[in-house]
Amino acid sequence: MWGNRLCRECGAPKRLVREHRWLSNGTIVQRKNPYHRMIFIECENINATYRNIEEIIGVSIGHLLVEAKRKATFDFIDRFLPAGIKTFVQLAGARIIARNVTALGGTMGYGKIKPVEIRRIHGRDDYATFHVENPYSLPLLCGDIAGAFNAIDRREVGVSYEQISPDVYEVTGRVSRHPLELKERLQGRRYKYKTGEIEIERCPACGGPGFLSRYRWDMESGIIVSRDSGHRKAMIGPAALESVLDELQHELGDTIAETVIEAQRRFVRTDFYSLEEASSEEGLRRHLSLRGMGNLREMEWSEDGLSLRLENACLHLVLAGLVKGLYELATGRDAEVAWELDAGGSFLVKARPRA
Ligand SMILES: [Zn+2]
Repeated sequence: MWGNRLCRECGAPKRLVREHRWLSNGTIVQRKNPYHRMIFIECENINATYRNIEEIIGVSIGHLLVEAKRKATFDFIDRFLPAGIKTFVQLAGARIIARNVTALGGTMGYGKIKPVEIRRIHGRDDYATFHVENPYSLPLLCGDIAGAFNAIDRREVGVSYEQISPDVYEVTGRVSRHPLELKERLQGRRYKYKTGEIEIERCPACGGPGFLSRYRWDMESGIIVSRDSGHRKAMIGPAALESVLDELQHELGDTIAETVIEAQRRFVRTDFYSLEEASSEEGLRRHLSLRGMGNLREMEWSEDGLSLRLENACLHLVLAGLVKGLYELATGRDAEVAWELDAGGSFLVKARPRA
């Protein structure tokens, strides 16, 4: 289903390039389903942000991550399979689940995923077990496995894991029932896009964005690493991450907005990103668009603070935390941040010195 050949020119997986579109409006979308948006993001950003959230609220959010990602992966694979072959897939089933998640791992940077044992006799005890080496995020990967199983089996699937060596986890998906209220709340969102004029240099051989050549794609281990920074990256649907934030808000109330902003601010303050790149308008526009996080239309530094206007923004709270963190890094002052979505759908965010 997912080939693993790399483009001879840029070195990116051909299949990944074929299945996605990098648009001039700062977004990355699935070719077959343009409403399914993707971001190409540093794993450490995601994991550190979740760790920081847990630290701030003092409660584990792993189960919410699993559930939100399950839903998103279900959606992804469900649309990925043409209707005509679904029946065939249901009959042939197990191997295709295994191939799907394994290949997802290879091309999207999710880690090395190996099927270990699959029992599927359409009974109540069906399960699939995988060994997962260096997952991009353990809870999110558990969600991927549950969602893939779900999409093929059409039954509810629960997932559990066990660490079997420092880098390897045994993850098992079992047929079961999910709590219905959680299932109803975790609905992915649909994005509306504005057009843009960001120029994307293309690889002459595969037509993918040229910047993908700056990454080393190890398909065998499912690891994508930036040749410049050494940071590991993965291709993820932001809708799943948004669902997690919605779910947190439902569980923990409105203070979660501040918590997410604070979690991202703490991450940015660790100097993970280059301030040089991110503090100029051109640099930040590039930084965000390469990650599929939107189109930076305006950026203004003044005595009064740092103001941004973005189109096609996603993960708004994370962006607010990013802007706050950047401002603090650049000025050495504590900041406060305000944001809104204006009538035209632009995301406005402003960091100013804390009064
Ligand atoms: Zn290429």
